[in-house]
Amino acid sequence: RQEQYHKLRDVPCVTRDGVPFELHMNAGLLVDLRHAEETGATSIGLFRTELQFMIVSQFPRIQQQYDFYTSAFAAVPGKPITFRTLDIGSDKVLPYMTQTEEENPALGWRAIRISLDRPALLRMQLRALLRAGAGRDVRIMFPMVAIVDEFVRAKDLAMREIAYLKRHGYGVPRDLQLGAMVEVPALLWQLDEISERADFLSVGTNDLIQYMFAADRENKHVSSRFDSLSAPLLRALRSIVETAARHNTPVTLCGEMGGQPLEALALLAIGFHKLSMSPSSIGPVKAALLSADVSALKKLVNGLIDAKDGAKSIRDAVQKFA
Ligand code: PEP
Ligand code: MG
Repeated sequence: RQEQYHKLRDVPCVTRDGVPFELHMNAGLLVDLRHAEETGATSIGLFRTELQFMIVSQFPRIQQQYDFYTSAFAAVPGKPITFRTLDIGSDKVLPYMTQTEEENPALGWRAIRISLDRPALLRMQLRALLRAGAGRDVRIMFPMVAIVDEFVRAKDLAMREIAYLKRHGYGVPRDLQLGAMVEVPALLWQLDEISERADFLSVGTNDLIQYMFAADRENKHVSSRFDSLSAPLLRALRSIVETAARHNTPVTLCGEMGGQPLEALALLAIGFHKLSMSPSSIGPVKAALLSADVSALKKLVNGLIDAKDGAKSIRDAVQKFA
């Protein structure tokens, strides 16, 4: 199997009926980045920067962060990296930061909420990232955006860091793209506004599913209770691609869902052409998408999710088609 997938590495990403797609890779630590070459991933579509913060014993100083991001760029020459700013809180704990007891940590003080309440931490990370990316194309995205204003404020901090670096004679990125993760359902009703303001969107289905179905992603009793291949989620996801397309805002999906072949087929059918996944998923997903007839798949999937039949799972139908 592995060998078979390896052979696919250099095969262009185009479906049987000529529809191009892109497969990107999720990573968190520098060691993950060696998989970029062997899998042939187009880019690092999600770099979870908090993992580096979780394995050290104190909050990394700006120079350490700078060295880390510089090493990341050096590890994948020619491949862009989409850095996600610190997504801490909930299940991701920094041992050296005092945790406040929370009744519902997944709904608590986390991710961009911490970043905006403690802007010095975010500014330090942005400064390190932007300095490491001097002269390069840099992509940064913010996790857990619930209202557009949070994105606007985070973007403003990034712009202030660019001004700071210029003022102090440091190099700055050649190009900077700032994106928002779509993983909090409230953002589904602000898609026009966020698509207008963000340079790109990245859909985090792990959290989006957890919040849409009110099912804790860490709780085995409920985490697989609702099928992601069913109308409620697929309709929501389709509205994201459609709105983003109207604004010419590129959109990627980086949740685990995109790394499963049947899910990837359904996602392609509703318009997701860029998926980011763990390295081991790239081979199986590529094999599935290469063999797909997208126009037939589109008809099937859209027909099923629009059917007013109680929004049942469409998994069996997609499986049969595949
Ligand atoms: C997600 O929520 O889908 C996601 C990609 O981010 P994480 O799994 O790190 O929360
Ligand atoms: Mg998430």
